[in-house]
Amino acid sequence: VEAYEAAMVLSGVGDALGYRAGRWEYCTSGPQIHAELAQLGGLAAISLEPPEWPVSDDTVLHLATAEGLATGGEPLLQELARRYVAAMGDMEGRKPGPSSILGTSQLRPGEPEGYRIPFNPRGTGCGAAMRSLAIGLRYPHACELPTLIRVSIESGRMTHHHPTGYLGALAVALFGALGARGEPPERWGAELLRVLPLAWDYVEGTGVAVEDNAAAWPFFGEAWHRYLDSRGLLEGRGPPRVPSLPSPAERDTEYLGWALEGWPGRSGHDAPMVALESLLAAGRSWEELCARAVLHGGDSDSTGTIAAGCWGLREGLAGVPPGLHCRLEHRGRLRDAAHRLHALAWGTP
Ligand SMILES: [Mg+2]
Repeated sequence: VEAYEAAMVLSGVGDALGYRAGRWEYCTSGPQIHAELAQLGGLAAISLEPPEWPVSDDTVLHLATAEGLATGGEPLLQELARRYVAAMGDMEGRKPGPSSILGTSQLRPGEPEGYRIPFNPRGTGCGAAMRSLAIGLRYPHACELPTLIRVSIESGRMTHHHPTGYLGALAVALFGALGARGEPPERWGAELLRVLPLAWDYVEGTGVAVEDNAAAWPFFGEAWHRYLDSRGLLEGRGPPRVPSLPSPAERDTEYLGWALEGWPGRSGHDAPMVALESLLAAGRSWEELCARAVLHGGDSDSTGTIAAGCWGLREGLAGVPPGLHCRLEHRGRLRDAAHRLHALAWGTP
């Protein structure tokens, strides 16, 4: 349960830190962000709390997922749709993405099939991925994989009805489940490639916009195949060949090579990719994890929320400066949701 609490709380920390009230989310220079952090006195000198350090859309929508799963409202997909729509009422100063705004405007929770929206050729962003770690925490067991696939895809395409978008939700949910089971990150990418054909079977089986989904399907798997091949991780066995990339500028260049439209970590395929790369390179070091996944020139609050959540699941809160999480906005809700998800997934001790 400590691991779950750390995962949920640190996902909010990664968001608030990477966001810095918009200043760092939209800064395109990792070196500049690191210079500004040094001026602040480093991570240990920061107290993450509003108004300078609010959580952004990532945490508000991740809470919608987590609390929807944790309260066990039924039917579940209607409950999640209702919560995503409601969450958009708490977006002042949090910079929600365009597909989240459009998608929630199209949802009709409570109506038959009201959790479905049309296919969106532009729905490739990471907005579904960033709110999906809780799905893995709720369904961590290997026998629950079909449920994890269904819930991550359907919740993901409530706003991001494009494979590059909603497969990001599947990836992050899967990483959460594997992390909760104690599987090392070296295995996570190979497991994702193994699961993708099962995900396609699900999408085809629903009969919803099958032709559009089929045409847009290959990119995500090809991008992940290329990345894992480059790291020697196609078989899921270490040690990974992760380049050291010691400077913020080198990391910005590397992440840019994976990105769509020149915005690293912005999309459903590369937000989890930046997160996984950072976990592999940082190991047990929180500082290094932040340097690589949270403080870079791309979509830093979203890669930060995914990576810091996964890191917390493995390492807990002990290695994190208290000022980063003690006064975090929505800390109590994140903690409570973690406790309820743990009880549902593993039984009450
Ligand atoms: Mg955000």
